[in-house]
Amino acid sequence: MQETLKKLLENPRFSDQDKKLTEKAFLISERAHHGQKRFSGEDYIVHPLATAQTLSEIGMDTTTIIAGLLHDTLEDTSLSAKEIKDNFGSDVLFLVEGVTKLGKIKYRGKTNIGQAADRQTMTLRKLFFAMAEDIRVVIIKLADRLTNMKTLEHVPLSKQKRIARETLEIYAPIAERLGMGHLKGELEDLAFPYAYPREYNWVIKHTRIHYANRRAYLEKIIPIIKKHLADNSITPIDIHSRIKHYYSLYRKLIALNRDAGKIYDLVALRIILPTTASCYEALGIIHQFYKPLPSRIKDYIAMPRPNGYQSLHTTVFCEGNIVEIQLRTPEMHHHAENGIAAHWIYTESGKIKDGSRWGLGKLLPGSQKTLMNTKEVDWVLRLRKSIEEHDDKQFMENIKIEFLKNRIFVFTPKGEPKELPEGSTPIDFAYAVHTDIGNATSGAMVHGKIVPLDYKLKQGDVVEIIKAKKPRPSQAWLRVVKTSEARKRIKHFLKVK
Ligand code: MN
Repeated sequence: MQETLKKLLENPRFSDQDKKLTEKAFLISERAHHGQKRFSGEDYIVHPLATAQTLSEIGMDTTTIIAGLLHDTLEDTSLSAKEIKDNFGSDVLFLVEGVTKLGKIKYRGKTNIGQAADRQTMTLRKLFFAMAEDIRVVIIKLADRLTNMKTLEHVPLSKQKRIARETLEIYAPIAERLGMGHLKGELEDLAFPYAYPREYNWVIKHTRIHYANRRAYLEKIIPIIKKHLADNSITPIDIHSRIKHYYSLYRKLIALNRDAGKIYDLVALRIILPTTASCYEALGIIHQFYKPLPSRIKDYIAMPRPNGYQSLHTTVFCEGNIVEIQLRTPEMHHHAENGIAAHWIYTESGKIKDGSRWGLGKLLPGSQKTLMNTKEVDWVLRLRKSIEEHDDKQFMENIKIEFLKNRIFVFTPKGEPKELPEGSTPIDFAYAVHTDIGNATSGAMVHGKIVPLDYKLKQGDVVEIIKAKKPRPSQAWLRVVKTSEARKRIKHFLKVK
């Protein structure tokens, strides 16, 4: 434990003042939890300490780290709100109270399916409301969950499965939506064996050999690729192989009928390069030596994923092997691992407070906080709007479809991208372009071929809407559309018609 505390206090972004406050928060939390034990038999304080350390590692600000140390004190100890506020200010208190409110909703075991679904809905609802208020509350909750997943073996058996499934169904998707790829992968891999033990064992058994082969092969070609790049005066900052997380592998295996030999990114090669230009240059060099699979070149630098992820991906033939290669800058890499936490920039009177490399600022008590930049912010704003516009039941439906599902980019014939949830139809697309176009839809073409109106759009589809002279939305459309925007417009049309 002393080790973890030492590591926490060594956070390179800490000022002396931050260090002092953090240590004070540790001591107050330790005293408050004194005598309490974890299921493992350890002193309770190891849990909030580990939570704070996670928050520190992903780059959160001092306020959030301190709140992480105190996150269980209001609910489980005699420490008062006033004591927290007097010692650490109202922002810390706000966050601890936010986490405490979330903690009260526990999705309990012995329920039938309907009730379990209700509980899940409640958990989600509270999480999303908290998120709209201050996303840091949810990030603390994610770190809290990660810590709990790491010690799940000590939790009574009867609870393990429920906690693991809740992690897979709620917390991991939220981490993904916030672009926190590293945290998401960790949560899923920790939960997978408890939630689906049989499937987990199956994956391990059927992929071990593939993993080993791929890895060995990649280690062999790294020096060759390095040489090709060096010949063109490109020096990568890092080249490493990254192993696909077991749970996402499992889902992919199911989608592809369980053939691990077909998962090209089982082990991928990741090349970190100094600049965006050198990423494109390196891609070109690699393609000179290894033929790419045409449909698998992806430019997420020019077109980031909805959660802000950026990289170039290509899958190439390498002496009979098929290898996925990912190219990105250190900034993109940091963002891919930590998502929204990587963009935690606060300003004080309009000026960026901390010019540190990853744009992580400190939140001073009483400062004007502004979260700047990035796609995630866009997402939080939409979330807020959605909360304001819909009643509870409808809101939850929307949330599940629009925020937790994967999203795709499709294009107008002029190449303008539209972002839609997976499973969207040409009707959803038409309404995303313009209400009048939605209303006038009579048919659709994808890549120049006629498709039915309930066609499920795919990533990269170019969609052209065939318009009728008169608007023609119908009840039947309501059964096929996915987005709340389209549904709202269709209902409105049918009402006023
Ligand atoms: Mn906790």
